[in-house]
Amino acid sequence: MENEGTNYPAEYKKLLEKIEAIEKTLELYKVDKIVEDKEKETKEISEETITEDILQIKPISEIVMKPKAYLKLAKHALTYANDSIPKKKWVEVIGLLTGKIKDEETPLERIVVEDYWPVDQGDAVSVEIVDQNIFTEIFHKKSNKHFIIGWAHSHPSYTPFLSGDDYRTHLRYQTFWNKSIALVIDPLMLSPTDYGIGVFRIHQDKQKYYQLSVEVQGMSSEACYESINTFMKNKEDNS
Ligand SMILES: [Zn+2]
Repeated sequence: MENEGTNYPAEYKKLLEKIEAIEKTLELYKVDKIVEDKEKETKEISEETITEDILQIKPISEIVMKPKAYLKLAKHALTYANDSIPKKKWVEVIGLLTGKIKDEETPLERIVVEDYWPVDQGDAVSVEIVDQNIFTEIFHKKSNKHFIIGWAHSHPSYTPFLSGDDYRTHLRYQTFWNKSIALVIDPLMLSPTDYGIGVFRIHQDKQKYYQLSVEVQGMSSEACYESINTFMKNKEDNS
C-alpha cells in the first residue's frame, strides 16, 4: 500500500460506493425475495414432517452460510462466468464476508456468514485488508453486530482451492484475525448436488491450508441451484 495512514477513510468510502454500484447492477436486492420465499417453503415443510433422519445427530458444519450471502456470491460469480459468455472472457470476482461467531470457544463453535459484499471483478482481482478496524467500522454501518469474517472469490471452472497468491492473501487475513476464512466458489460447479464452494483456513504452522465443512442454512444445493437459475434467467430476459 502506498498511502499509509490518513488516506484510508476516503479510500474505503470509495470502496463502499463501488460495492453499492455492483449490487445495484446485479440487482442483488432481489435475493431477499428469494430467501423469503424459501424460508416460507421450508417452514411449511418442517412443520409437518420430522423424520428419523432429521433427528439423528450429525456432525455440525463449521461454517454456516445464510442463503442471502450464498446467493449474492453465486450471482456475482455467475454473472462474470457462465455458458452464455465465451470462456476466454470469464473473469474472477471478489468480495468480503461479514457475519458472526456462535458459541465461541466451545465444541459447537461455528462461523455464521450473514452477508457477502461484492468488491470487484476482473482479470487480476485482489483485495487487501490493510486495517481491520477501518473495515469493521465501515461495515458496522451496514450491519451492526457483524464483522468481517473473511473474503470470497471465484475460480470459474478451475475448482475451489487456494492458489499461491490466494494463500498469501489469506495469510494476511488470518494475521488480523486467526479465524478468518477464505471462501472460493467455482460458479460452473454449481449443480443440484453441489454448492460449488470450498472454505479454507491456514494451519497455525503456516505450512499448509485445510478445508472446513460448510452448509447453506435451510437451503439444499438443489434449491440454491434452482434459485440461481431463475435469477440468471430473469436477468437475461430483462436485458
Ligand atoms: Zn484464487
